[in-house]
Amino acid sequence: MAERSYDFLMPSVNFFGPGVISKIGERAKMLGMKKPVVVTDKFLEGLKDGAVEQTLTSLKAAGVDYIIYNGVEPNPKIRNIQEVKKLYEESGADSIITVGGGSAHDTGKGAGIILTNGDDITKLAGIETLDNALPPLIAVNTTAGTGSELTRHAVITNEETHLKFVVVSWRNIPLVSFNDPSLMLDVPKGLTAATGMDAFVQAIEPYVSVDHNPITDSQCIEAIKLIETSLREAVANGHNLEARTKMVEAEMLAGMAFNNANLGYVHAMAHQLGGQYDAPHGVCCALLLPYVEQYNIIADPERFAELAEIMGENTEGLSTRDAAELSIKAMKQMSQDVGIPKSIKEIGAKPEDFELMAENALKDGNAFSNPRKGTKEDIIKIFQAAYDAE
Ligand code: NAD
Repeated sequence: MAERSYDFLMPSVNFFGPGVISKIGERAKMLGMKKPVVVTDKFLEGLKDGAVEQTLTSLKAAGVDYIIYNGVEPNPKIRNIQEVKKLYEESGADSIITVGGGSAHDTGKGAGIILTNGDDITKLAGIETLDNALPPLIAVNTTAGTGSELTRHAVITNEETHLKFVVVSWRNIPLVSFNDPSLMLDVPKGLTAATGMDAFVQAIEPYVSVDHNPITDSQCIEAIKLIETSLREAVANGHNLEARTKMVEAEMLAGMAFNNANLGYVHAMAHQLGGQYDAPHGVCCALLLPYVEQYNIIADPERFAELAEIMGENTEGLSTRDAAELSIKAMKQMSQDVGIPKSIKEIGAKPEDFELMAENALKDGNAFSNPRKGTKEDIIKIFQAAYDAE
């Protein structure tokens, strides 16, 4: 085995299971929170007995004051984190509670970053760029999902340049997170599919990443198996608590895996589609996945052959290369089964944008762990293949 050394990041505390949300008030109090900004969006704020309402009920019961920011946008923008910072300072808040999916968590993390590390977040893009701790942050997760409730990543979109960038730092990891699958029972089919495919990609990319290790491998394998046995069911029957629970376990495992083994070109390229066309992140990832991994196969066919087996394909008697190809077939099948569109055309992608998006994808923080090193022309070809897909 090759010599290696690495830091291994884990979430500090995650409360897991149906009903755990009722504990949030008491936990906030234990952390010394006196007045958190609750960062969410208008839709979640208005949901009867939803995650926001249950969070506020628990905070009130524990005697914790709060103020609400309900302006989170999908693919959160710099303006969102500046608005949260302003509200935090003007209201005398002392902490942050994010309620929602990746967009709410990243908005809260982004605001925390600029509250303590300087106002211009674009200068902090990259890996381990933060000198100062963020204000105390609790993440209440409502999608399965990005893993953002426990990762060191904050993904923000610059609304002027349409560039989505990542600030990656151990200081971004929420102090406490809540993953209550009962909060996900009413997630609509399309959102279940998109967020579930994001978790699927986040289990596959670290498995083939140049930074993988035996700990992240085991997390990826279990996450993929859980997704194989529960995502289709969660989409078909959203009220199946068992399927929702397995999807939350899967997204947490995938989050821990990519926190440590990083991602690859799927995410580097998906950030370009998300930034340019404001398209849902999970859909962007799912649309690119088979075309990026088809490109990657020659870098490590054995790992792709293993992936095929993990995904339940019968590889008996096949050559390594043929078995590896089956993993691509399984990825396409999963997307098709959960109703993801076929081509990036359907989210508004235009071939004239591919050159600039390819240049930017190669600079994205996720590109460096991809198993095959590509040129700009290679990335353009992958965008084109995902565009021509029928
Ligand atoms: P999201 O947070 O953008 O939410 C999408 C929509 O779903 C919103 O309109 C929201 O109101 C709604 N929603 C959320 N929970 C719901 C519920 N329980 N029921 C009904 N509707 C609900 O979606 P997401 O996929 O979780 O997050 C995507 C963002 O996260 C992207 O910007 C992506 O780049 C980022 N991301 C971050 C990380 C990280 O580690 N920081 C990792 C992957 C992706």
